[in-house]
Amino acid sequence: MDLISKLNLKLKAIDEQSLTRRRRVVDTPSAPRLVVDGRPMLAFCSNDYLGLAAHPRVIEALREGASLYGAGSGASHLISGHGRAHDLLEERLAEFVSPYLESPRALSFCTGYMANLAMLTALGDDPDAEIFSESLNHASLIDGARLARASVKVYPHADVEALAALLEASNASTKLVVTDSVFSMDGDLAPLPEMLALCERHGAWLVIDDAHGFGTLGAQGRGALEHFGLRSPNLVYMGTLGKSAGVGGAFVAAHESVIELMIQRARPYIFTTAAPPALAHALLASIDIIGGEEGAQRRAHLQSLIAQLDSELELARWQRPASTTAIQPVIIGSNAEAMCVGARLYEQGLWVPAIRPPTVPLDTARLRITLSAAHTHDEVAQLAAALNELERTWDESQ
Ligand SMILES: *Cc1c(COP(=O)(O)O)cnc(C)c1O
Repeated sequence: MDLISKLNLKLKAIDEQSLTRRRRVVDTPSAPRLVVDGRPMLAFCSNDYLGLAAHPRVIEALREGASLYGAGSGASHLISGHGRAHDLLEERLAEFVSPYLESPRALSFCTGYMANLAMLTALGDDPDAEIFSESLNHASLIDGARLARASVKVYPHADVEALAALLEASNASTKLVVTDSVFSMDGDLAPLPEMLALCERHGAWLVIDDAHGFGTLGAQGRGALEHFGLRSPNLVYMGTLGKSAGVGGAFVAAHESVIELMIQRARPYIFTTAAPPALAHALLASIDIIGGEEGAQRRAHLQSLIAQLDSELELARWQRPASTTAIQPVIIGSNAEAMCVGARLYEQGLWVPAIRPPTVPLDTARLRITLSAAHTHDEVAQLAAALNELERTWDESQ
């Protein structure tokens, strides 16, 4: 068989499981109201939880950053690509999470995916190390653990007792407990205070991926650490900057020695071109908004939308696992049914992504509704009414 035919067989197998993914082309800035392939849509898809991706102040800062620093960084951070804007951003981020860490320092990255690869390969670069990974962790944590030389143990979702047993049984010289704070496909929170207590007892690091918590959790938007009031030298914190912060990139904040080790050793940090410095400049504006009065108002509005969706959705056939965050899943079950529900909503001008395995476990294909402070109460009411009606008439519509 020729090379292309082999690939086409694989693609056909993907299609037969209703797993083919398609991209839609969006013509407008990230917002609830989008033009998608030329058609106006109301979207509940993005991780732009505070609506900062199209915020005039952030856009203006990006423009200003381009005039000050140009379009690209020109090199990796360790050669000549580490600009003033990157440095200011790292200082600002370290200060932002400083109440929760000891001798904190922050390191910025082009993406959260790379930050996780860098962090886990630097800290887990030892065959004697052991990584304890939560079963619903994000793909970038799973891949970082695979790339590290440490051995990996997976513990069941939110199961602190199972984690305790694994730590108890471990003789590893370095122990890394690795978890999402807010689970990206379920919206629930990891039991971080109990996990941190365990880590301190066992001399383990607690690595927290706060991609969906940074900016949205905590009175000042400082994320899961603020929400739970965690403080420990054992904490290694990863926040992303393309979700609530509305721009792109990520950072790791931890004790300065952790950061220094990453600068010396983390290949996904060392061998890549630094992000355009204008992005860092725009992010300074985002962090100001997140930490200020406007950020607090946006978080309060988002919370009221979450409560509204919860009270207005009346579903029986489709399951709604408890979530108090902006991620509100509706579990449909089969891939085909989830795709069909998504398609019916889309026909009505409502865009909610259907998520299938391997992103979520088998037979838990779902709609992943995400709310943003940019949504209005009317828009959320429209979505709830459409979903209620779709479920009510589901058998007939098949
Ligand atoms: C989005 C996400 C990432 C990756 O961040 P990017 O900046 O998009 O690469 C990592 N972890 C979690 C939990 C995420 O949701």
